[in-house]
Amino acid sequence: MYWDKTNECISYDHLQGLQLQRLQDTLRRAAQSPFYKARGIGDYAIDDLSDIKKLPLTTKQDLRDAYPYGMVCTSLDEVIRLHSSSGTTGIPTVVYHSKKDIDTWTELVTRCMYMMGVRKNDVFLNMIGYGLFTGGLGLHYGAERLGCLTIPSGPGNTKRQLKFMKEFDVTVIHVIPSYAMHLADTLDSMGIDPKKEFPHFKSAIMGAEPYSEETRKKVEDFFGIDVFNSYGLSEMNGPGVAFECPEKNGTHIWEDNYYVEIVNPDTLEPVPDGEQGELVITTLNREAMPIIRYRTKDLTSILPGTCPCGRTHKRLQRITGRSDDMMILKGVNIFPIQVEAVLIGIPGVGRNYQIILETKGHNDHMIVKVELDPNMFVDEYKALESLRQKIVRELRDEILITPEVDLCEPGSIPVAQGKAVRVIDNRTL
Ligand code: ADP
Ligand code: ZN
Repeated sequence: MYWDKTNECISYDHLQGLQLQRLQDTLRRAAQSPFYKARGIGDYAIDDLSDIKKLPLTTKQDLRDAYPYGMVCTSLDEVIRLHSSSGTTGIPTVVYHSKKDIDTWTELVTRCMYMMGVRKNDVFLNMIGYGLFTGGLGLHYGAERLGCLTIPSGPGNTKRQLKFMKEFDVTVIHVIPSYAMHLADTLDSMGIDPKKEFPHFKSAIMGAEPYSEETRKKVEDFFGIDVFNSYGLSEMNGPGVAFECPEKNGTHIWEDNYYVEIVNPDTLEPVPDGEQGELVITTLNREAMPIIRYRTKDLTSILPGTCPCGRTHKRLQRITGRSDDMMILKGVNIFPIQVEAVLIGIPGVGRNYQIILETKGHNDHMIVKVELDPNMFVDEYKALESLRQKIVRELRDEILITPEVDLCEPGSIPVAQGKAVRVIDNRTL
């Protein structure tokens, strides 16, 4: 049941002792990097974990300013790998790993995969980007450590992925949620029933972008599998930071490796458990490039209480999105995931959508492009029109503004190779 019971079920007292010792160590090491040396990080006295609040925060912009080597705290001889972020919100940032860092990362990913039930007899198809992106190699190393037959297919070439799933009796896949929906669309268009086609397929790891609980359900029901949420970011290694256990109720964030804070994004003051705020993470066990109080911009909360699975590490609520993803229209704050959750519940709606923001006169205007369900046969204009109106009504109830809804042919909205582009903002004001 546990890959590393000692650390996964560590008592909270012991965990805090370990965190303090690792935090002090991290500060000592970080002080060797030009970036943190300039910040005087070595001058802070940390006698208690609560002292962490005194330390300066680190932002994505800091990482960009320290490019290329400003945050490395060991000699470059010790560094064996470079990864970068996807660049979703601007210039990608780079992160460096020592041999020990790669080993620690692999161990964390292995812990996650074992937790969701992956074992050495599994056949694992990794449909996520290899190369600079951390998703591919991160999971790959974990799957190999477990002893799985690991297939590094990477993203794209959907028909080949489906062929692999069938011919190699794949049991577990790693996939971006929007791509899982695309796989389902492709199977539908080929008239294939996934439950018959892939009888060995049992679970999927889904992460790298926000998705709703409704999307998880949809993928689970379509394929007849369990889907586990995986949260990570390149600045904190990549996948393996926080992951769902079989309870599927929040992702355990591995606190022996990461110190977690949730802060109010405006005041930067801590918020209580259960309340939403921005996730701030400190690496506690990284050698080449420690990062202190990193502002992830991801919005979430700590789930109060303990998990029945027996693991003591805190659980993060599903990420609503990044503060950057929040659209402000006519003064109303909206996240793409809210639109997704509404659309997915409406019969007749397909699996892909896109939001376009424009300026009309002096006002913000939202157009939601919605693909139709390929299995729905409606020739009648009236039926389509009533579906369109239903979508407008349900979206308005959720997001409090009235969008224009544009129904599109199945497959007409482009599918990204990596993370989906959900919002195109063409506003001029
Ligand atoms: P970039 O920050 O350029 O997108 P990364 O590849 O490092 O590059 O992506 C990390 C980000 O992806 C996270 O900060 C978060 O916003 C998003 N993300 C990753 N996993 C999840 C998940 N399971 N749910 C929601 N968002 C996620
Ligand atoms: Zn649990």
